[in-house]
Amino acid sequence: MTQPTIYEISANERVGVRLPAVDVPEASLPKDLLRDDLDLPEVSELQVIRHFTNLSQKNYAIDKGFYPLGSCTMKYNPRLNEDVARLPGFAHLHPLTDEEGAQGALALMYQLQGWLAEISGFDKVSLVPAAGAQGEFAGILMIRKYHEDRGDSKRTKILVPNSAHGTNPATVTMAGYQSVELPSDEHGDVDLDALRAACDDTVAGMMITVPNTLGLFEGHILDVIKAVHDCGGLMYMDGANMNALMGVVKPGELGFDVMHYNLHKTFSTPHGGGGPGSGAVGVNEKLAPYLPGPVVEIVEEPTEDEEAPLYGLRMPEKSIGQLKAFYGNFGMHNRAYTYIRIHGAEGIKDISRHAVLNANYIRAKLKDTYTIPYPRICGHEFVLEGHFEGVDDVHALDISKRLMDYNFHPPTNYFPLIVPEALLIEPTETEDKATLDSFIDAMKKIAQEAHDDPDLLKTAPHNLPVSRLDEVRAAKQLVLCCIEIPSWAEAGD
Ligand SMILES: *Cc1c(COP(=O)(O)O)cnc(C)c1O
Repeated sequence: MTQPTIYEISANERVGVRLPAVDVPEASLPKDLLRDDLDLPEVSELQVIRHFTNLSQKNYAIDKGFYPLGSCTMKYNPRLNEDVARLPGFAHLHPLTDEEGAQGALALMYQLQGWLAEISGFDKVSLVPAAGAQGEFAGILMIRKYHEDRGDSKRTKILVPNSAHGTNPATVTMAGYQSVELPSDEHGDVDLDALRAACDDTVAGMMITVPNTLGLFEGHILDVIKAVHDCGGLMYMDGANMNALMGVVKPGELGFDVMHYNLHKTFSTPHGGGGPGSGAVGVNEKLAPYLPGPVVEIVEEPTEDEEAPLYGLRMPEKSIGQLKAFYGNFGMHNRAYTYIRIHGAEGIKDISRHAVLNANYIRAKLKDTYTIPYPRICGHEFVLEGHFEGVDDVHALDISKRLMDYNFHPPTNYFPLIVPEALLIEPTETEDKATLDSFIDAMKKIAQEAHDDPDLLKTAPHNLPVSRLDEVRAAKQLVLCCIEIPSWAEAGD
């Protein structure tokens, strides 16, 4: 049943708010701001609340059910994070407060920089970048500046395996480099021969996603790093998938020079809808002077009778610049800090162990029903092929749409690109066995339905407020509101 729009429930002269009588002299408003022709809905406060609450409940969300959207790490965001981020001393702190008045916030950021460095084995961290992709951009700009400072201008290429996240080649191009695609071998690892053939003194570095977008830990990662270092390039690790590695592998110790984290994936700060994120970057000593700033540093050690040092914001010596207003998204730092602090070292390890266990559990349970193109132990996610032998016209998209009828968010569709009809499944560590079992059950039922009644899948979803959408047209003819646009809104620009 479709919900009436707020204009349809509008009734003449109904009001949601009653202002008190004016007890000060009336001042006139600028004429341009006063109009009689504004077609605004006239509704009561309760109607507005019910309207938007009902609408919000039609959306799927992590708070409503299982969300195995591969690559996105849609883990539950603990409410404690929110409580801490909303503490008035943090939430109301003005970004222009002087350093002396912001010591608590700076201490939190300093500690978070240190913990992220510890978890990943890097020397220094900057919290400035506002998204994973911006962290990548910062990383490649640092590599660029490093080569420039050495007077090495021959290097024009960055190597990117075809199992990389799409933001990787985009970043390379944005940073002014040529992106050179490397093939994968039959196990889903980087093709070492192709890598060695591509390595020469025109290579500035390599960007590699670990575990890669197939959910696989690169089998010969040390050989890959060595090959690139041997020809003078630097190694960038896309660390958005650190959810599989925390407490088990430190990329800095493997030999990576720079990496970004997605605090809004691995460290449970909320994401989706393009909202505020944090793509902190970690680097080794070589790149530390180039970090985007400001970073938090201890500017004065405590004297004997003081408890805490004095923290300050400093631009690293040869910084690539600021990238983002102020100091990054402080609310995200706050939530990530809380998450790490609540878990502690052992808890952080458990996050990755459970994420990997959950993904492998689903993979093992579905391997006889679906084609798994790379049948080996996976990281925190895995890919299966969403089609069936003997059922020609059922596709990954149809399986996903049918999953919605079973009350699950679909996995990521048609990504990574190197698997036909790819469905990328990432359960995260926050789901229990009963939830995983009911998802597995639904996936098996859907496979059976595909054979018995393929139309059921092709016309799904059947139980949702809206049925199947024309996604191509929706993208090409974007209409952002469901009501007729009033004439006054169309008149201007
Ligand atoms: C999500 C993701 C990114 C990009 O992060 P954004 O915050 O969305 O910019 C990069 N690489 C991988 C592997 C990712 O999963």
